[in-house]
Amino acid sequence: MDFSRIKDWNNFKTRPFLISGPCSAETEEQMQTTCQQLAQSGKVNVLRAGIWKPRTRPNAFEGVGKEALTWLKQAGIDNNLPVATEVANAQHVEACLKAGIDILWIGARTTVNPFSVQEVADSLKGVDIPILVKNPVNPDLQLWIGALERIHQAGVTKLGAIHRGFSSFQKTAYRNVPKWEIPIELKATFPEIDIICDPSHIAGNRSLLATVAQKAMDLEMTGLMIESHINPDEAWSDAKQQINPESLNELIGNLTIRSTEASSFETSSELTAFRKIIDEIDESLIQTLVSRMALSEKIGQYKLDNNVTILQIKRWEEIKKTRMEHGHSEGLNNEFVKNLLQLIHKESIRQQTDVMNKSVTVG
Ligand code: PEP
Ligand code: MN
Repeated sequence: MDFSRIKDWNNFKTRPFLISGPCSAETEEQMQTTCQQLAQSGKVNVLRAGIWKPRTRPNAFEGVGKEALTWLKQAGIDNNLPVATEVANAQHVEACLKAGIDILWIGARTTVNPFSVQEVADSLKGVDIPILVKNPVNPDLQLWIGALERIHQAGVTKLGAIHRGFSSFQKTAYRNVPKWEIPIELKATFPEIDIICDPSHIAGNRSLLATVAQKAMDLEMTGLMIESHINPDEAWSDAKQQINPESLNELIGNLTIRSTEASSFETSSELTAFRKIIDEIDESLIQTLVSRMALSEKIGQYKLDNNVTILQIKRWEEIKKTRMEHGHSEGLNNEFVKNLLQLIHKESIRQQTDVMNKSVTVG
């Protein structure tokens, strides 16, 4: 889809564009105090709070609901800041618009469901406030793009994306693995869409927040959404990942914001020289892959003629072992070499399968 009608929605060109506030609005007082302290720092651009909370398991705190919208709006008025919350259906949208909420976002558990996204999109017809779409819980770029398209198709021109990481069955250091390549690909495909990183839901704990936030800034993301609570340990949801306004202020103050302006840097002769060498190396990498794949085809033919299976597990194990040992001894990251080999092997198998299949169609 053509996102060329997208307008700037944040009106704010200094990074990070910062959205902060508690995971959930709990009480009127909690909202007042947290938001006042956040606003005092002068670093927060938008106040956030969850009103309806999508919880993984039943019987957890599911948000105060509609009543808390007035607390959020009031905090915005008191501190002269726009306010944002999550919507998952048409009733949420209607209640938010009625309460004068300035920015809405679609949560990760909603983005996965095209029916829900379409329902939200339909309820946004004729509405001109910014809408931010979080990535779906699963690492599916097309699903994320599809949700952005549905909202855009409804006529929303102030559109942004939020990267909050992807859930995984395996235990990792993150609550939701960042898979940075996915938001990078989104940005490369649709440069007009601003991306906000949500380190809170990626990290899932306080200790990783700063590293994730720094990485997002180094990847040229527009902003950050970080959960903050006056008393994080006592929070009714996501207690482990929330920080108090003072710590947030410190975290933001400690970020190194590097220039995204490439102009003078792009033309420096040192960089040009490095890039020239990289171009040549990449060229020879491609040539090497071409030669390797040409051999895969020959091997496919040999296996076909001799009636042996494409996959030879022992040989594959040996390839992995020797190449990884070699890579390691040369200082390459093990995981990187493994992933690269897996990609090459997958393509090699695909080529050999083609050879086998052709013989079936022809013969
Ligand atoms: C949230 O922002 O509080 C939230 C529920 O996030 P996500 O949709 O990313 O899980
Ligand atoms: Mn949360």
